[in-house]
Amino acid sequence: MLEINDLHASVEGKAILRGLSLSVPSGEVHAIMGPNGSGKSTLSQVLAGRDAYTVESGSVSWDGRDLLALSTEERAREGLFLAFQYPVEIPGVSNAYFLKAAVNAVRRHRGLPELDAMDFLKRVKAEMKAVGMREEFLYRAVNEGFSGGEKKRNEVLQMALLEPRLAILDETDSGLDIDALRVVADGVNRLRSPDRSMIVITHYQRLLEYIVPDRVHVLAGGRIVHSGGPELALELEERGYGWITDAQAGKP
Ligand code: ADP
Ligand code: MG
Ligand code: MG
Repeated sequence: MLEINDLHASVEGKAILRGLSLSVPSGEVHAIMGPNGSGKSTLSQVLAGRDAYTVESGSVSWDGRDLLALSTEERAREGLFLAFQYPVEIPGVSNAYFLKAAVNAVRRHRGLPELDAMDFLKRVKAEMKAVGMREEFLYRAVNEGFSGGEKKRNEVLQMALLEPRLAILDETDSGLDIDALRVVADGVNRLRSPDRSMIVITHYQRLLEYIVPDRVHVLAGGRIVHSGGPELALELEERGYGWITDAQAGKP
């Protein structure tokens, strides 16, 4: 369970999140939509604990713990996974090496035995099959020279292997073709589980046809200004955000 209460955060002295409150219960998938520049990526960066983002006030509790008191690394070890809009390339580090190190770091932290090379390969190959990745991608440098769709598949692969307790996908769908969109959606749907929460940040309703979220929230001006069921995504696609932001501003 993630509980964000009256969160204010700034970047380079500029206030971006301005009183954001949001609850995401365990087992649920919530979508966050909203105009460009409204603070969606800032929210994911703040939750992941990136240095450039300063929390001014408010609280974030995660399974009853103070998320903001944890370092970025601790959050990751505790099972927070953030999928970026633009995944990083890591030249010189093979995907297999990177994935195995990441999986075993999380397993150690959870008190589970590390996977040896054989067990790891078995797991990773099964997951790669599920996301439609060829085995050669294991031996290439992380994301280096991967196409947009291949990076997304790789990200879904990372997410599936790490078995996060809170996964945040930030505009994972931008620039994706239908096939890659389906991979992301199938990945999220496969990972739905009673002890996992997921936040899907998206501009487009299309992704939400495949991932039917439990709740849809509109982020505008640094706050959640409207929430609804999955049908809200369709309404936003048809009507845009003006009717909500105008109502917020007291316009008729
Ligand atoms: P969204 O993801 O909803 O499009 P962002 O969270 O990326 O919005 O951005 C919200 C606002 O914060 C924008 O005005 C953006 O220019 C600003 N911002 C975000 N990151 C930075 C940064 N590192 N430095 C300066 N301004 C930033
Ligand atoms: Mg943006
Ligand atoms: Mg963004």
